[in-house]
Amino acid sequence: MHKSIILGTGPAGLTAAIYLARANMNPLIIEGPEPGGQLTTTTEVENFPGFPEGIMGPELIGNMRKQAERFGAEFKRGWVTKVDFSSKPFSVEVEGIGKLESESIIISTGASAKLLQIPGEKENIGRGVSTCATCDGFFFKEKRIIVVGGGDSAMEEASFLTKFASEVRIVHRRKELRASKIMQERARNNPKITWSLNCTPMEVVAGDNGLRGLKIKNNATGKEEILETNGIFVSIGHKPNTAFLEGQLETDEMGYIVVAPGTTKTNIPGVFACGDVQDHVYRQAITAAGTGCMAALDCERYLEGSSSQDWSKSL
Ligand code: NAP
Repeated sequence: MHKSIILGTGPAGLTAAIYLARANMNPLIIEGPEPGGQLTTTTEVENFPGFPEGIMGPELIGNMRKQAERFGAEFKRGWVTKVDFSSKPFSVEVEGIGKLESESIIISTGASAKLLQIPGEKENIGRGVSTCATCDGFFFKEKRIIVVGGGDSAMEEASFLTKFASEVRIVHRRKELRASKIMQERARNNPKITWSLNCTPMEVVAGDNGLRGLKIKNNATGKEEILETNGIFVSIGHKPNTAFLEGQLETDEMGYIVVAPGTTKTNIPGVFACGDVQDHVYRQAITAAGTGCMAALDCERYLEGSSSQDWSKSL
């Protein structure tokens, strides 16, 4: 029987682990199939405070993990297949490990950027293909960029990227954009943004030195062409990693876990959520780490004796 189990080892889960371990709560952290989360697929992180020269994503994650281990956090690797939050202790089933029981649970399983699933895409992530404009835009000063997508995220990322790029081309599979009117107008009024609408992305084409371009097919004419570019930002939405919950926690219409405003408390006392699994707005390593700290403090207070009655009052 554990006091606390943390699911996920991105910046949110690892920060929660550091705080709980330092508070002698002996957290057990379950690492999923992609330990470290989205930061491990990033190259250099230049906006995490405390690293004036920047730091590589995997190194930052490695440091957080070491810091948690230094205070006694225990790590186990496995795929969480099932949870049961209907009675206490809570239980978590992990492939290859079995059933684990805990007084409290912190969920920090993150979100995954959706990918186009076209040839050349996966192998060029970090080599010209990115899913995060805030993280990687800076590397494309005076370069040509393509943003794929027609939603608010694509409009926002394209507008943001014009701060760096010489040209940003939005490629969208339909004639109509999904984005809200105001975001569309902002993008349409930006002289640096050009458009390839009603065009389906077919293939990411690598060159000798970085990317060559994106092969697209015009859906009206059937014509295929390669749009030359230095970078491709895939901005077709994110998916929170909540499938294993099987509806046991309250989630919003997009599947993100709902927490009480200003806290990390879910609708089940003793179960907390932090990081991107409950945040589709900010989605930064530093904000994930911040909510990881909040989850640990909320969890600590819960373990230190809130009766369920007191708890419900504090929600
Ligand atoms: P989204 O609204 O779901 O839009 C995803 C876009 O990607 C759609 O245009 C979709 O095309 C396209 N797409 C999806 N799968 C694709 C594929 N396999 N190949 C090519 N294109 C594909 O996602 P989002 O833009 O990330 O927004 C998510 C939510 O956050 C929305 O509610 C949005 O309003 C909100 N948001 C708000 C702001 C803001 O207000 N500042 C900023 C960002 C996001 P189709 O249109 O053809 O389906």
